[in-house]
Amino acid sequence: MLTQAPRGTRDVLPTESYRWQYLEARMRTAAAEAGFREVRTPVFEHTELFARGVGDTTDIVQKEMYTFKDKGDRSITLKPEGTAGAVRAFLESNLYAEPLPCKMYYLSAPIFRYEAPQAGRLREHHQFGMECFGAKDATADAELILLAYRLLSGLGVSNLSVNINSIGCPNCRPKYNDALRAYLREHLDDLCEDCKNRYERNPLRVLDCKQAKCQAVVVQAPILLDYLCDECREHFVELQSCLQAMNIPYQVNHKIVRGLDYYTKTVFELITKTENGNLTVCGGGRYDHLVEQLGGPDIPAVGFGMGLERVLVLLDGEGVVIPKPELYDVFVTYMGEHRLDAFRLVQSLREAGLKADMDHCSRSLKAQFKYANKTGSPVTATIGDEEAASGTVKLRNMTSREEVTVPVAEAAETIRNMLK
Ligand code: ATP
Ligand code: MG
Repeated sequence: MLTQAPRGTRDVLPTESYRWQYLEARMRTAAAEAGFREVRTPVFEHTELFARGVGDTTDIVQKEMYTFKDKGDRSITLKPEGTAGAVRAFLESNLYAEPLPCKMYYLSAPIFRYEAPQAGRLREHHQFGMECFGAKDATADAELILLAYRLLSGLGVSNLSVNINSIGCPNCRPKYNDALRAYLREHLDDLCEDCKNRYERNPLRVLDCKQAKCQAVVVQAPILLDYLCDECREHFVELQSCLQAMNIPYQVNHKIVRGLDYYTKTVFELITKTENGNLTVCGGGRYDHLVEQLGGPDIPAVGFGMGLERVLVLLDGEGVVIPKPELYDVFVTYMGEHRLDAFRLVQSLREAGLKADMDHCSRSLKAQFKYANKTGSPVTATIGDEEAASGTVKLRNMTSREEVTVPVAEAAETIRNMLK
């Protein structure tokens, strides 16, 4: 128990964290190119924020949240998604008073959902998310889809399919909901228990139920796009024009409605085919009324969330090799009497910007070389009696085995040349 992480969580170990850092660097660059700046919000918020923001008929709020009372008897919830916290921060700091749009992203934000752990599904996962507040044009939706698409394909994810849909707005969706309810009423017996409840309170949810029997029912269901009002239809047409203009292959998918209540107009998912079926790696959409619903002014917004664990799984599946940085540039080996010289040398090499280290375990010189070899250090710098006496250090290229002895003061520069 003590040495076992809770179910559905995963460590990122020192040997693999470079993979995360690589992804994160690419994500930061992509975001910066489009004028998005990072936001960091707390890991927990008041439960009320998610109940109101995400919607209390969603799976997330009904079944998946990590909610607890703190010592002050407040109900607290660990973030089950990234958008609500970003909206809360946007409102709390009056960012809407600045010139809009306000573009922000969050990176490796931990997200908590009490789900059945399985491949690609964790109880704590991490998301890269982007949110754009104050832009109602479809170009804003398109730029996010494009950014996510280019980011993922640039990383090496192939087989990406961009699925888009429009789920309308409070003007047109109620009419669709009525039509959908009327259809579902005829098939209530064939729905799962959850969907029997969804049918009344939020029939749209039935469309993205993962149960096979519900999916079978909705094949024949009325299609939302047929019910869109003029404004929503035009928005959807313009979104597609943007994607076409950029040659982004996409498909309109009526079944994409997203698991959160706050969406309006555009919803989208980037899906890949894997050995174990389809995997959604990124999902998002427009949420034109969430800001207002959470007590702010009437400000439209659009965003997405992308799961980092899933991106990594996909890259592994595709055999993409993420460049692994060397642990060290140089490893300093020394004879026991000269430990202080070695220590001094290591610090000066580090000051010169090299990744350097030495033995801290009283190993023999021979064992130090063995260890240096194991770390993969391309160069060793040795201080024996002769070197200590003459203020020099013996550098060895661990691949070619070539050796050169130089004054300590020239060590850093020589090593740098050897590394070229
Ligand atoms: P799914 O349909 O797979 O349950 P979702 O619609 O609940 O996904 P979102 O809320 O849109 O997912 O979250 C955005 C992204 O976060 C997903 O596309 C996925 O990459 C990732 N994600 C969501 N839930 C998990 C999870 N439990 N474990 C790992 N990654 C997840
Ligand atoms: Mg889910």
